Amino acid sequence: MRVEFDRDTCIGMFNCVAEWEKFVEDTDAGKATLVGSDEAGDDLYAREVPEGEEFEAKMAARVCPVDAITVYDDDDQIVP
Ligand code: SF4
Repeated sequence: MRVEFDRDTCIGMFNCVAEWEKFVEDTDAGKATLVGSDEAGDDLYAREVPEGEEFEAKMAARVCPVDAITVYDDDDQIVP
């Protein structure tokens, strides 16, 4: 499972931070940060979801009001 984070779209509501510890607050930027991610495009970050953290990753994606977080299983987009 893989998660992508569109940091440009993020509006810093920090709902995701409460759901998954891999998202942390960058209060200076007013954006979340996806810990352990690699840059995958223009202000786009991605990482594999560690085993056992799939539920938390999907919840983080579900609670984002602007759909800045996308979860993929193989190549299939599963959330949102
Ligand atoms: S919930 Fe969405 S908008 Fe809010 S900090 Fe997380 S990624 Fe950004």
